[in-house]
Amino acid sequence: GQPLTLDDIVHRYGSTLAVDHVTLEVQAGELVALLGPSGCGKTTLLRIVAGFIAQTSGKVVVGERRIDDLPPNRRDVGIVFQNYALFPHMSVAENVGYGLAARGTDKAAARQRVADMLELVQMGHLAQRQTRELSGGQQQRVALARALAIEPRVLLLDEPFSALDKSLRLDMQIEIKRIQRSAGTTTLIVTHDQEEALGMADRVAVLSHGKLEQFDAPETVYDRP
Ligand code: ADP
Ligand code: ADP
Repeated sequence: GQPLTLDDIVHRYGSTLAVDHVTLEVQAGELVALLGPSGCGKTTLLRIVAGFIAQTSGKVVVGERRIDDLPPNRRDVGIVFQNYALFPHMSVAENVGYGLAARGTDKAAARQRVADMLELVQMGHLAQRQTRELSGGQQQRVALARALAIEPRVLLLDEPFSALDKSLRLDMQIEIKRIQRSAGTTTLIVTHDQEEALGMADRVAVLSHGKLEQFDAPETVYDRP
């Protein structure tokens, strides 16, 4: 993995200051949960790292390199966002293999990787389904498989389990954690679920009104009054 640095990020939507001078250093292979009330700037931060929107000022650095100037598909970032849809006209397997094909991965290797990722999210039996025929939870699992298939340097997850039932949610949390640990993938996750943050995160970043209020181990953050 590689460290991800957000350096003095500011983002304004017109007159709304959504992100207010946030500096956050995520270590290589670390999983950081972004927490805070609705509207505090969590999704905006992830969208900036993904490259879907440009920050008003500040830098985004992965390893030694600024990635601000790269388009989203050149950033080596795996993305699972609620509004980041699967390609509806493609099968499950085609969706998961899309990024590999785009990167020119050898066909046999790509096929194997797709099969492994679908196995991981328990969707192997639906590989040939059209994605528009899937339930919300199935779509989230395919989105996770798609994000992980490219072995991203950075993984961005925005409420990635919201459509899953409790038991699958726990399974997926454990799987993501396992993959993130074994591949050493630097990960940022937005969640409203404190248990989820406690169980998964190495550190928790708490935002309030666009400012970073706390950045510490989950136990420390939750012990405070
Ligand atoms: P969170 O993800 O923590 O709920 P957001 O990053 O979505 O917060 O929003 C941060 C602030 O920016 C909020 O005040 C929100 O209303 C505002 N905001 C978010 N997206 C837009 C947008 N596209 N246009 C204008 N304001 C926005
Ligand atoms: P690739 O699969 O080729 O690596 P992506 O599928 O990541 O590329 O991105 C395709 C394009 O769709 C991106 O350039 C991005 O700008 C756009 N895009 C996808 N989802 C969103 C979103 N939620 N908000 C804004 N733009 C998006």
